[in-house]
Amino acid sequence: MQKSFSYFAAMKHLKALRKYFWKYRVRLGAGILFVMLSNYFSVLSPQLMKFIINYVDQSIAGTVSAEHPTKGYDYFVKKLITILSQNTNVVQVIIIASLIILFLALLRGFFMFLMRQTIIVMSRHIEYDQKNEIFNHYQKQDALFFKRHTTGDLMNRIAEDVSRVRIYTGPAIMYIVNLISVIALSVFFMLQSSVELTIYVLLPLPILAVIIYFVNSNIHKKSEQIQASLSDLTTHAQESYSGIRVIKSFVQESAMLKFFTGSSEKYRKNAIALARVETIYFPSIMLLIGLSILLTIMIGGLYYINNQHGVTLGTIVEFIVYVNMLTFPVSAIGLTASMIQRASASQKRLNEFLNISPAISDAENSGDFNADGDIEFRNVSFTYPDTGIQAIRQLNLLIKKGEKLVITGRTGSGKSTLAQLLLRMYDIDEGEILINEKNIKDYQLSTLRNQIGYIPQDIFLFSDTVEENIRFGSYHASKEEVYEKAEIAGVHNEILKFAEGYKTLVGERGVTLSGGQKQRISIARALIKPAGLIIFDDCLSAVDAKTEREIMARLNKYLEEKTAIIITHRVFSLLSADRIVVMDEGKIPEQGTHAELMNIQNGLYLKLYNRQQKGVQDDEDEAD
Ligand code: ADP
Ligand code: MG
Repeated sequence: MQKSFSYFAAMKHLKALRKYFWKYRVRLGAGILFVMLSNYFSVLSPQLMKFIINYVDQSIAGTVSAEHPTKGYDYFVKKLITILSQNTNVVQVIIIASLIILFLALLRGFFMFLMRQTIIVMSRHIEYDQKNEIFNHYQKQDALFFKRHTTGDLMNRIAEDVSRVRIYTGPAIMYIVNLISVIALSVFFMLQSSVELTIYVLLPLPILAVIIYFVNSNIHKKSEQIQASLSDLTTHAQESYSGIRVIKSFVQESAMLKFFTGSSEKYRKNAIALARVETIYFPSIMLLIGLSILLTIMIGGLYYINNQHGVTLGTIVEFIVYVNMLTFPVSAIGLTASMIQRASASQKRLNEFLNISPAISDAENSGDFNADGDIEFRNVSFTYPDTGIQAIRQLNLLIKKGEKLVITGRTGSGKSTLAQLLLRMYDIDEGEILINEKNIKDYQLSTLRNQIGYIPQDIFLFSDTVEENIRFGSYHASKEEVYEKAEIAGVHNEILKFAEGYKTLVGERGVTLSGGQKQRISIARALIKPAGLIIFDDCLSAVDAKTEREIMARLNKYLEEKTAIIITHRVFSLLSADRIVVMDEGKIPEQGTHAELMNIQNGLYLKLYNRQQKGVQDDEDEAD
């Protein structure tokens, strides 16, 4: 009972696929038709075999009549037999009938080919659509979502789960349609041939179904365990590879090996347990099929000898061929059921995820308003929902259009959070953030973010060429523009020194860049974006102080028309800023020009400044 309920539940999750089946309904319908046609042609050949055997049998006995009995045959076979039995040359009749059997096999193969062309191709289309749907959904999610889901988890859904669902939309559907049509057609013609013999032949089938049912749920459970231990194993291996330097430097190779051997052992045990169950599964299916054939021969033979129920030698042969035809589809029932269960578990995970609607999205009346203007934080408070850390506390700040504002303060004072709030990576809990006197929630997300060139503190470069990484900020940018921006960011000359210049690959498969190079490439990327506001989040921390000053000087010129927020922990580099804001514990205790801030007795800025002046030498050394 438990089991059938879970199958029912399985179908519930897979309902989500209906829209795809509907989208590809023509393919699906054609596929089902092809399956039926291919099975139809395959059930015709046992009938012809029956005719040949009976024909030969009669000709040996000398009882061939021009009117061969046609009861129990398919319409086309009947027509054929009527034509064939007018020919009295036995050899000719056999040859022609055999050629027709061959032709039927070809027809069957042709429709099987078409069936794969439609159903399997449909499943690939669905897979593609589903991947796009998921990827699209990822892209819409907010920062919190990506904190709650690990990359591995997200990757699994787009790779593993989707491919398990594909196994359902492709092979499983094909097997199911095939199974149903083979059983229906062959049982139909078996009944036409001899009802009594059919009952005997099908007798082992219920037992077979019960065995498949129990053994399969066992196999399913075991293969799930295998899957879990395999994923454990992969995680361990992956971590050891990426952490190899740590492992080696802490001389923990043997401990890691022990760890790995442990999960490897678990995997081996599970795999062997599965193999054991499988060794019973197929032989017992074969045994029962063999039993069916045995019953056909014994009971059929008995009927034949006693001349009962219209059973002839040909009927026995016909039945044996039918039973053989049923073997594969029936033995695939278990496999198909597992496919469905797995697909359903995967689709359930996908559904859960697809149902998460992003907390941050375009408001109903949001619009493509002009976002180039003053920026104002009004009484803004924000607490990270996952950690409960209050990063911003009732903060007020007005940034005039065109202003160059520096934000400084200790690590953890909330500088990066402020930038992220402006980009609406998170929504604030209290207060308002306004741009051009309009709440940022009223802007379309794309309008808002297009307005901002943002260089995050944690740099990310794609596995692509340097040039494309820079162009990411604006796909239509020309080569000259890319060079120009790299020049401003102070990285152009270094790029030219790479073996393949701007065509050098970076990221996992490419060259290893220094932290400073990555930072400057990512600055170039932000500069190329036609944005009115640029936020630099501590993006020159890995560059030495001298280079930083040079870059800042060039930037000052480039930024003339733009609003700029420069977040930095290095106080001395900002002398040219209009205003310096000092952050502490999510608030702004001090702001003003450098000179003004230096005048505050015991001020935060003064302390930071003094500490850094003392540490200048260290700072210059520590860079890069
Ligand atoms: P800063 O950029 O000035 O170093 P942050 O804005 O990064 O400071 O951090 C402010 C506070 O918020 C810190 O206490 C930090 O631990 C916390 N914080 C930063 N980012 C996150 C995050 N993604 N999730 C939870 N807490 C965070
Ligand atoms: Mg920061």
